[in-house]
Amino acid sequence: MTNKNGRFGIHGGQYIPETLMNAVIELEKAYDFYKNDPAFNRELTDLFNEYAGRPSRLYYAEKLTKALGGAKIYLKREDLNHTGSHKINNVLGQALLAKKMGKTRLIAETGAGQHGVATATAASLMNMECVVFMGEEDTKRQALNVYRMKLLGAEVIPVTSGTATLKDAVSEAMREWTSRIDDTHYCLGSVMGPHPFPTIVRDFQAVISREIKYQILEKEGRLPDAVIACVGGGSNAIGSFYNFIEDKNVRLIGCEAAGRGIDTFETAATINTGRLGIFHGMKSYFCQDEYGQIAPVYSISAGLDYPGIGPEHANLHDMGRAEYVPVTDTEAVEAFEFLSRTEGIIPAIESAHAIAHAMKIAPEMDKDKIIVITVSGRGDKDCAAIARYRGENIYE
Ligand SMILES: *Cc1c(COP(=O)(O)O)cnc(C)c1O
Repeated sequence: MTNKNGRFGIHGGQYIPETLMNAVIELEKAYDFYKNDPAFNRELTDLFNEYAGRPSRLYYAEKLTKALGGAKIYLKREDLNHTGSHKINNVLGQALLAKKMGKTRLIAETGAGQHGVATATAASLMNMECVVFMGEEDTKRQALNVYRMKLLGAEVIPVTSGTATLKDAVSEAMREWTSRIDDTHYCLGSVMGPHPFPTIVRDFQAVISREIKYQILEKEGRLPDAVIACVGGGSNAIGSFYNFIEDKNVRLIGCEAAGRGIDTFETAATINTGRLGIFHGMKSYFCQDEYGQIAPVYSISAGLDYPGIGPEHANLHDMGRAEYVPVTDTEAVEAFEFLSRTEGIIPAIESAHAIAHAMKIAPEMDKDKIIVITVSGRGDKDCAAIARYRGENIYE
């Protein structure tokens, strides 16, 4: 789907300083070679299966289906992966690639800490150094993940510039990479940034839809009517969509974090409220103020709290191939609680955005229709924040 210059329609590309060009070209060349190397792919499959616990289950959520009274609902259980989310798929791929390239050090950005923990995990496994950049604000909100990263042997650097959140951590990691490219690989956490990152991350996450496809054919003998996933940068969503893009009868639905609502300034719904722009090395849609500056974004979910969206999603939106819908904090929290009670599965608050949208559309659909929802991660990390949202303090 990517053309030669890393474009998805008008989106994507490489809007980077000259000093980063060599690193990006080196990465592109290495990836072009290893993606077709049988030994590399065998090693990666082994890591996926033996270490991360793939394939993840495609679970028929019978109680959720009955409670909603419409379409049959399956959950793609990325929450069961080692480290608790889909992030490990991409990280194992990039760490292995970096190792093959002779790199000895991984750097990464992280928001909620899931990607940082996954990167620290892969670095520990592959005996590499690891440095994680994290907005200072986020280090406070996600202290447990900071501890986990340190426990795994990583160094965590709090970023104090800007709003001291995810976007600033990305900027800082890019700056660090520019200054040290010979031994360091920048392990980017979503389908964003300059080419070839959106393609590399998508390819490693596409295992999700490869599995959904054969699993649903095994269970139902046909493709689903809709695939639903939450969208921050968009990696679990593109991973869930990718192998269905050519199957025009499968609706692809990305759920953006609307925060307190898309008519407020406290939102992170990029497609629904953003405009075309260039940031972090790519052309795509971004939340911007009236002067075209990147706007501060807000969501209850730290993992969806990013002012942009990956360029492939921006293009799927332009082509009308995928739909992007806003889901508010309130709706996500209700879905978080509802799935916990109906199925005994506590989803990540990010994933709860996808559940919430399914709760809106499933009841309207016939009982012979099939929906697959990707549960991108597990919700243990979110319990304290949701309790706080409900006015409880579980650490009293
Ligand atoms: C990071 C994260 C997300 C958001 O990232 P995408 O690249 O949009 O997938 C969603 N869910 C979980 C559990 C995450 O950790």
